[in-house]
Amino acid sequence: MNEAAHILSLGACVQSSCLALMAAKGEIGPMPAAAIFADTQAEPPSVYRWLDWLEKQLPFPVHRVTAGSLTERITTTRVNRKNGNIYYSNMIPAFVLNSDGSQGITGRSCTFDFKIQPILKELRKLGGIKRGQKTVGLVQWIGISLDEVSRMKDSREPWAENRWPLIEMRMNRHDCLRWIERNGYPKPPRSACSYCPFHSDAEWRRLKSEEPEEFMKAVEVERLLQQAQASVTTKDRMHGTVFLHRSLVPLRQVDFSTEEERGQVNMFQNDCSGVCGV
Ligand code: SF4
Repeated sequence: MNEAAHILSLGACVQSSCLALMAAKGEIGPMPAAAIFADTQAEPPSVYRWLDWLEKQLPFPVHRVTAGSLTERITTTRVNRKNGNIYYSNMIPAFVLNSDGSQGITGRSCTFDFKIQPILKELRKLGGIKRGQKTVGLVQWIGISLDEVSRMKDSREPWAENRWPLIEMRMNRHDCLRWIERNGYPKPPRSACSYCPFHSDAEWRRLKSEEPEEFMKAVEVERLLQQAQASVTTKDRMHGTVFLHRSLVPLRQVDFSTEEERGQVNMFQNDCSGVCGV
């Protein structure tokens, strides 16, 4: 085992929460020096409540880091001072209905800019990593479970080594839930931005019924995204309309009956690189 500090990347989802609690109970070691939660400032209140609770159960600190408000970034257009063009940088993976009837999905940078980058910055700080360092200075724990094995990726940074303790323990998401229940802890919520287009219909349904204010915020974000896209004046302006739901129907009007009922593909495997809970 590497002697460098072990630091947990905490998405506040089922898997990373289970990992944090297992470490707290000494069921996996060594004890992490800290956990890092990257906050897009767009998670539903249930996730922040969970994080507040979880923090109190852990013997190591949780560092909350942020690159600012993702909602603000994705709904704000900017003006080029030189030529007056209005531009907009899309960041989330929205679904697009093009004017010729074709469909697509926009590229995303939200995971990298609002999750991965702030975590790397904090890791560097916590691990005392020097500029240009090529030797491993810390071990990052990532809460990916056995059913998500395809999401395992080696660290791109030479100074960090990735570790997947749940995979080492052959635990899948269901095992994590059973461990949490067996130990008398409450069930963690699904962690992701309220308006993440990768939501399954089950998650949209849950948001709409259990956190209706968040659902209405997502409806408003969709409207603002469409407004921002339409106001772009640069040459590469997208000739289409963006939607948050894969059906290309305004979120407010979507029928969230189960994917199985409609025979649709679940996008849940289309993840947030093991950093977010989606
Ligand atoms: S949860 Fe979705 S919207 Fe939020 S950062 Fe991850 S991919 Fe982007």
